[in-house]
Amino acid sequence: MLNTRSKNELIDSINVFCKNFCCANCGGSYDFKTFTCLYCHTFNEDLKKSYETIVSIFSNLKDNDVDDEIFLYLYKLDKVCLNNIDFSLDKFNLDSKVKDIINRLEGISQYSDDDIKLLEYIFSNDEFISIDFILRDKIIKNVILGKNNLSKSLIEKVISHLVLIETRKISKNSKFYIENLDDSTLGSAFYYFINLDRRIFDSFYENGDIRLFYVLPHEMQHVYRNYLESKGVVTSYLDLLALKEHLLRKEYNDEIYFNDQNYVKNLHEIEANIFSYYAGSNYLRSLGFDIKEEDAILASGIVNNDLVNFSNPLREIDGKLVDINNLFSDFIKNKKSLFLKFPQLHYEFKEEEGEIVYKSKEELVEEFMLNQDNSLEEIYLSLIRNAIDRESDKRFDSKKN
Ligand SMILES: [Zn+2]
Ligand SMILES: [Zn+2]
Repeated sequence: MLNTRSKNELIDSINVFCKNFCCANCGGSYDFKTFTCLYCHTFNEDLKKSYETIVSIFSNLKDNDVDDEIFLYLYKLDKVCLNNIDFSLDKFNLDSKVKDIINRLEGISQYSDDDIKLLEYIFSNDEFISIDFILRDKIIKNVILGKNNLSKSLIEKVISHLVLIETRKISKNSKFYIENLDDSTLGSAFYYFINLDRRIFDSFYENGDIRLFYVLPHEMQHVYRNYLESKGVVTSYLDLLALKEHLLRKEYNDEIYFNDQNYVKNLHEIEANIFSYYAGSNYLRSLGFDIKEEDAILASGIVNNDLVNFSNPLREIDGKLVDINNLFSDFIKNKKSLFLKFPQLHYEFKEEEGEIVYKSKEELVEEFMLNQDNSLEEIYLSLIRNAIDRESDKRFDSKKN
């Protein structure tokens, strides 16, 4: 075994090396001969020192010098470096060694202090996120059953991995926080960041409260929707309606969202509740818990939603009922940059003499005839139907005048 001094030196150096692996100035990579950034040419003394320490300890390190803790550090080092450095870690068989360590931890019900150290490291580092899922689920199950003896901060990290394994598929910058949110908010999503209210987490940690498993997928669905909207992806007419509602909330009047009457009709909230209903129940059932239908309906929030009238475009603003479509067509008129930012709006609108206006029924029909993409059929048919209604309303209005 490595003596304690060398072991600590190696661990410290791996920490410093991994932290400095990308240039803090510009995010670029380093040349590992000169330790200067390949892009901005800044020299990094910490990187050089830690690299040299690692290499010198490695030069006389044998397989049986290495304990479980160091294996985990080497595994991270290997994943961070991805063949960018001179020394090879192949001789340690890291993948299978770390798999064995995690397998052993999965079978334990009473962790020793050394085991807890390993758990801390695994759940503090994203490099283990795709291999710790069975271990994670066992720990979570024990919390729900009231059999947990791990610290609150460690369980926070376990939950963080549960979220990030999904949201990192969408953005590598996705983050998860547990925070004190305002009284009525259980969780929130902002771009690719998710916040969970501390009271929901505490109630899970202390009493095994399962609401957390409904709040998290709800927020994850918002993150996924943010991603689809930013990419211009639409699969149904409702996606267009939801985007209009979302943009009106952000840029026009947030009462369209925060008014309770409107909140229960909000399409983003409805889809998040539906996803939460399935994902939350499925996850808990996969852990072996019996989830009653009425509890899932309540915990996911779909109990408040009208699941028949999705396409109802009416909302209440300042005590008056308004139609999202009409409101949006007025709102978007002079918002050229917003129009260009969301290409999915181009199905329904066009730019004409500097203004953003509806396409006519004839234009929509012509595009529909030329369209080769079957998946857009429902969208075009809905838009054409709206255009027919709109144009016949106009004729009716002009007759009145
Ligand atoms: Zn740089
Ligand atoms: Zn929501």
